[in-house]
Amino acid sequence: MTEPFVSAHNSFYIIKDWHETVPGLVAGFSTKMGGKSTGDFDSLNTGFHVNDRLGDVIANRQKLGELLSFPAEAWIGACQTHENRIACVTKSDSGRGALSYDSSLPDTDGLYTDEKGILLTLCYADCVPLYFLSKKHGRIGTAHAGWKGTVLGIGANLVEQWKKDGIEPQEIEAVIGPSICKGCYKVDSRVIDAAQRWISDLDSPPFSPVAGEAGQFHLSLQELNKLILLKAGLPLENVRVTKWCTSCSAEFFSHRRDQGKTGRMLGFIGWKEGVST
Ligand SMILES: [Zn+2]
Repeated sequence: MTEPFVSAHNSFYIIKDWHETVPGLVAGFSTKMGGKSTGDFDSLNTGFHVNDRLGDVIANRQKLGELLSFPAEAWIGACQTHENRIACVTKSDSGRGALSYDSSLPDTDGLYTDEKGILLTLCYADCVPLYFLSKKHGRIGTAHAGWKGTVLGIGANLVEQWKKDGIEPQEIEAVIGPSICKGCYKVDSRVIDAAQRWISDLDSPPFSPVAGEAGQFHLSLQELNKLILLKAGLPLENVRVTKWCTSCSAEFFSHRRDQGKTGRMLGFIGWKEGVST
């Protein structure tokens, strides 16, 4: 399968075929390069809550907004809590969580909208960004899936919420973005036990035991999220997974690799106004 993400600039990747086939759609993931932050946050840190200098974070966000031609005033962000709450947002939410953390949507790990002119944004450093598109219904969404959100089924939650609005899973395309790979992600049996509810005997398991370390496993959160989206009813051809690992690749921040002292990348999806479809 071809890689869905391509580098569009040293500061960000985009989902190439959505960009090419859906006029005005901007979806992608930032790198850690080309920003103003220093030290552990060198340099394009977009996370407010990591003790970076606020002025640098704001400058980084404004710069990314310019590069995307999507000004930060049109962004919407959330206080992510590793739960599975998903919010429907509109233009009236524009600017929330964009240039200050306090104005973010509280307790939210997923966002979706039917409106143009707003950029849905969530922050990452190893957790899995999920991107959703229904071309037919003109709806976009995104969700933040660390291991907790993943096993809580945040991806399936989003699909369920869209179903209530008459959008069938067959009409939804999903892309699973840059995040920690199986080889870099070691977890204990507690995580594997929680994941089992999504894995049937027929599935090839997205985890394997670590040789010589009892109770330790390598887990692919990307593959687990794919399984969950398939269980939610998305067709196999509608779910694509990146090959990019935030820990393997030096162009990203990684919570694991950097031992917790690191910045955050931005996952984003939005529809520009005034672009005819
Ligand atoms: Zn890796």
